[in-house]
Amino acid sequence: MRERLRENLDRVIWNIEQARIQVSEHHIVKLVAVGKYSDEESIRLLYELGQRAFAENQVQQLANRVESLKSLPIEWHMIGTLQTNKINRLIELKPYLLQSLSSLKLAEALNSRLEKKETTMNALLQINSANENSKSGVKVDEAVDIYQEIKERYPHIKLKGVMSIGALSSSKKIVQKSFETTYNIYEKLKRDGAEICSMGMSGDYELAIKCGSNLVRIGSKIFK
Ligand SMILES: *Cc1c(COP(=O)(O)O)cnc(C)c1O
Repeated sequence: MRERLRENLDRVIWNIEQARIQVSEHHIVKLVAVGKYSDEESIRLLYELGQRAFAENQVQQLANRVESLKSLPIEWHMIGTLQTNKINRLIELKPYLLQSLSSLKLAEALNSRLEKKETTMNALLQINSANENSKSGVKVDEAVDIYQEIKERYPHIKLKGVMSIGALSSSKKIVQKSFETTYNIYEKLKRDGAEICSMGMSGDYELAIKCGSNLVRIGSKIFK
């Protein structure tokens, strides 16, 4: 299993390298390994191979893994839909980054609980870049305003940038368009301090990087 993980990780890092060099030698891309199809033993092995940032898409799963891998100084990301009744649990876990802040309403609820607990949380605003009903995230034409509103009204949330899932389509053009849409919003938000543009999963991370992504979230191509 260790050898397979090593091969997968090497291949993904190599592909990221090829894509990011085409953007610029100064364009550095962070790899976040998504453990949802995997087990704790694989995460531990990947850590031994040098991987440091991991993500989960469910609060309960994240809680289990934070607990059982607490001896390892892992950087944990939350990337899935966050239900209001899981907010307190998430705050206790002190994730490095909540990538899926998906509405103004959720921001309000999160901020008030953070305020009560006298703490803060780093977050990315999730954008529904292809306007798909199946996906969470703010609408493209509201994203800049909502980002600024969260920054002004909810000071316990430390916004670091944006996250988006590429359009669900077999057409490369359509997927690319959704990445370009997110990147344009990210560019506008740089003056508001946005630093992270999280786009790209196993099926489309090279394309996402060429469109400007500086954080990719990869599960199946590493763990399967
Ligand atoms: C599952 C998931 C990923 C990783 O998906 P793969 O296609 O397996 O790489 C990335 N981002 C989010 C939000 C996910 O839910």
